[in-house]
Amino acid sequence: MTKKAVALISGGLDSMLAARLIQQQGVRVEGINFFTGFCVEGHTHAIRKRDRDRVKRNNALWVAEQLGIKLHIVDIVDDYKKVVINPKHGYGANLNPCLDCKIFMVNRALDWIGEHDFDFIITGEVIGQRPMSQRKATMPVIAQESGAEDLLLRPLCALNLPETLPEREGWVQRDQLMGITGRSRKPQMALAQEFGIEDYAQPAGGCCFLTDQSYSVKLQDLWTNRGRREYELDDIMLLKVGRHIRPSPDFKLIISREEGETNFLSGYRRQFQSIKTVSHPGPLTLIEGADLDADQLELACAITAGYSKGRDADSVEVLFCDRAQQSRSIQIKPMPVDRIDKAWIIA
Ligand code: SF4
Repeated sequence: MTKKAVALISGGLDSMLAARLIQQQGVRVEGINFFTGFCVEGHTHAIRKRDRDRVKRNNALWVAEQLGIKLHIVDIVDDYKKVVINPKHGYGANLNPCLDCKIFMVNRALDWIGEHDFDFIITGEVIGQRPMSQRKATMPVIAQESGAEDLLLRPLCALNLPETLPEREGWVQRDQLMGITGRSRKPQMALAQEFGIEDYAQPAGGCCFLTDQSYSVKLQDLWTNRGRREYELDDIMLLKVGRHIRPSPDFKLIISREEGETNFLSGYRRQFQSIKTVSHPGPLTLIEGADLDADQLELACAITAGYSKGRDADSVEVLFCDRAQQSRSIQIKPMPVDRIDKAWIIA
């Protein structure tokens, strides 16, 4: 009977190659892609006007299409919070809990194969590829702590690891698997060429914003300021967009950097107090935090105006909109950007 494997598909080349290697051994492969809310996938590029020439696609779906496999996109936003907030194995260079993340995702894939009557799990992991989660020492940790044990097959580096159940049972031929190690991408690129794969996503850094330093600083600021480590999906989406400036512990400004971000932030106006320049082209600012007093409002308006085309004008008109969506016009002298206290600028 045809064996069935589920492949963790990130949208990158490695998981694509891993799935293809198993597919070509006659195994029926389907893909699973986990949506955490932190995914880089298309988000910022989809928003920012300056990136409009870049191809916008969901790379996981695109990989599935290239492989001719069914893709299951699974929302794990809520369950994933505990991984980000309190990772047993700690963080990488930024707030990326890569090892706990892998364990969590493989564990969820294990549940999935149980529910869907599949036989084993494939990932695109390569020993030595990433400093935190893809080391020789962490490979068994992921297999053990996820509970997947030897149902977890890493086709790209299987020859450097003990035999798994699919190999022992002859569901896949071990000699047709790979023994790739290290950070070089050349073996994967050669394999891609062999498979006739010419177009693939080349993510810089990692698969999610948690590997990004500036993003991690913003997330840490959010936790510090709230006095607790928690977040909602809207919080982590808004950390991907705009300049974040905190002039006081009471409030933070999220200031759009260009038209695409202004449009994106407009969708959140009803949840926040906001400021928009009227007399000159300029940003939209969302104000996160308590209702502003008169001095705080003046400061927020001046900072917003400082980022507008009226930055050199004596006065800029802005429209302030409170939480009840009552708006009023305010004339303000712009604050030059270089006079904004550096300590206020989160990222
Ligand atoms: S980069 Fe992000 S999605 Fe990828 S393993 Fe690390 S925490 Fe998980």
